[in-house]
Amino acid sequence: MLPTIPFNKPYLSGPETRYIEDAVRSGKISGDGVFTKRCHQFFEQQLGFAKVLLTTSCTDALEMAAILLNLQPGDEVIVPSFTFVSTPNAFVLRGAKIVFADSTAENPNIDVASLEGLITDRTRAIVPVHYAGIACDMDAIQAVADRHGLAVVEDAAQAIDSYYKGKTLGTLSDLAAFSFHETKNIISGEGGMLAINNPLYAQRAEIIREKGTNRSSFFRGEVDKYGWVDIGSSFLPSDIIAAFLWAQLEHLEDIQTQRKAIWSRYYEAFASLVPLGVGLPVIPAYATNNGHMFYLVTRSLAERGALIDYLKQQQILPVFHYLSLHKSLFYAAQHDGRELTWSDHYTDCLVRLPLYYELTPDLQQRVIDGVLAFYAQQ
Ligand SMILES: *Cc1c(COP(=O)(O)O)cnc(C)c1O
Repeated sequence: MLPTIPFNKPYLSGPETRYIEDAVRSGKISGDGVFTKRCHQFFEQQLGFAKVLLTTSCTDALEMAAILLNLQPGDEVIVPSFTFVSTPNAFVLRGAKIVFADSTAENPNIDVASLEGLITDRTRAIVPVHYAGIACDMDAIQAVADRHGLAVVEDAAQAIDSYYKGKTLGTLSDLAAFSFHETKNIISGEGGMLAINNPLYAQRAEIIREKGTNRSSFFRGEVDKYGWVDIGSSFLPSDIIAAFLWAQLEHLEDIQTQRKAIWSRYYEAFASLVPLGVGLPVIPAYATNNGHMFYLVTRSLAERGALIDYLKQQQILPVFHYLSLHKSLFYAAQHDGRELTWSDHYTDCLVRLPLYYELTPDLQQRVIDGVLAFYAQQ
């Protein structure tokens, strides 16, 4: 039997366990140790972020953002319906009401043209998600936000090393949340990061991350004792997590080169499916591809099911993705009833193909041949 091709396989660049040992031996394995500082510096000095803080997950980074915005119960936040639960949940935890936006026809990103119609006098923020690491139209989103005095928070969970008009995703808003979950490009098992681009939030972000204390100022010698100054939680990861992450960041370029090469092979191989009406990822001129995900958009839900079954018979494991959140068990009753056609379309028809560092050309060819064979018999 042929070896199974999983959807994802976490990649180890090599020194992960050695760096974890170094962290353990250093005697300081709580948060903000040597490796955390190294990771922070890398993002700030190499990638151009103004200020970043590692967190235990992207979910936590989003929750920090929601606290920083000082949302009050009844405030409204605009979020795409086609996203992960954590994107709206962070704001729901603060008592906010979620107003779901649709995706666009060209890709699952938020439909910017619909935003004006969703804004009320309770709207406080827009949260674009850079789906598959492909940028949303940030200038257009920022223009809407400026007109109405709204904050913008990027869910950049999938968007490391991707760009909008040459600018790094995650630097184009007030606050941005990244994920280092093992399904992302750069991983630490669980892990995340908050990028703080608006200096207004910088000091309070440190406090919220340290359980509502000014401990970070204390360690810098700015105050002579630390105490409880705000709300917060324990959002900072152990230095063991940062040690793992550092091994990945050292190999960012190599990892990205490999993932993008795999992505491009898929893209070229499936060009022949476009005339049939099968959708491929659309990357607008202002955006880049970061090799996070390769997906197809099938012509129907039934076709997607048949394609997944067909590939599974060949030990290839593709997966579908989000289920429209405006129809979720938890939130459907609070949704205002608008149809979100494109979100539902991607819910039914989007399928993600295996994409991971160790997907060799031979293995990838099996996936390509499988998909092409499926469409040849349609
Ligand atoms: C992965 C992901 C998250 C959650 O990230 P965690 O680090 O697992 O909390 C949130 N939003 C999007 C768009 C994601 O892809």
